[in-house]
Amino acid sequence: MSRFNGQVAIVTGGALGIGGATARKLASEGAKVFIADIDDSSAALNVQSIKKTGGIAVASHIDVSQSGDIARMVDEAVDMYGRLDILVQNAFGVIAGESRIHGSALTVEEDNWDYGIDVLLKALYLGPKNAIPHMTATGGGSIINLASVHSFLQEPGMLVYESAKAGVVGMTRQMATEFGPDGIRVNAIAPGHIVGEGLAKIWKDNPTGHEFFADQYPLRRTGIPDDIANGIAFLCSEEASFITGHTLAIDGGLSVQLQEKFGLRQANYVRNNPDTNLPT
Ligand code: NAD
Repeated sequence: MSRFNGQVAIVTGGALGIGGATARKLASEGAKVFIADIDDSSAALNVQSIKKTGGIAVASHIDVSQSGDIARMVDEAVDMYGRLDILVQNAFGVIAGESRIHGSALTVEEDNWDYGIDVLLKALYLGPKNAIPHMTATGGGSIINLASVHSFLQEPGMLVYESAKAGVVGMTRQMATEFGPDGIRVNAIAPGHIVGEGLAKIWKDNPTGHEFFADQYPLRRTGIPDDIANGIAFLCSEEASFITGHTLAIDGGLSVQLQEKFGLRQANYVRNNPDTNLPT
């Protein structure tokens, strides 16, 4: 299947995890992929693996906390490939980034609040600001924002992440309304617990913890990056041409069950095991 033949896609945080799988998925279906990431070596490895399977991809060192980098990202992608059709706004380190911004209104330092909001929210306004003019020049495009089940489900210590991820849902709906007439569709994905390379390392040393997490899900497993990449590819495709402003939960049913019982058990696990430094 080549749903994205002739199209150009930028994936922020496209080296590893959800972004890594998304870059491979879009490339496998014909898109020319531009990976924007701060992890140069992992990005280069992902480009290699895409090329090995006949896909087209490049990587560039882009830090989405820097507005100049986001402008350069779009310029470089359009210079290289001549157009822009898809923008996947995914970058964030669930491991390192999340521990930095952990805390409550009483404990989060102001500079960490600023960092979290810059990477998780402001970057998602700056990406479209730079990308949309190129998309409208060729008749439209698709923007996918990474939200989270934490856009809707709250727990102590997650002020910055949850504020930003709730904002992502609002921003997605706003931009869908604003730019629909220009042929731009804007959607979000709200993943549950997705085990990419980083989380896999943590769970390897704590298999019972992983089992406990999986047990909180109606489908009795946590997710893998391909679960999200498949949803992103669908939302970017022609099959989703009448879908915009939507946030699609891909969470094994986590968010539809009774949170009083299941959400609390998971939050308590994280609270009682602070050394695991786990996102949920
Ligand atoms: P990950 O840590 O596996 O990968 C994140 C990628 O983003 C890495 O390649 C990293 O180098 C890159 N990155 C980090 N900061 C960056 C920056 N400032 N500029 C450019 N690149 C940067 O993360 P993941 O688990 O795949 O998460 C990806 C997205 O999905 C995030 O927005 C996260 O909030 C969201 N999400 C993840 C989960 C989960 O359980 N994994 C759940 C809900 C939402």
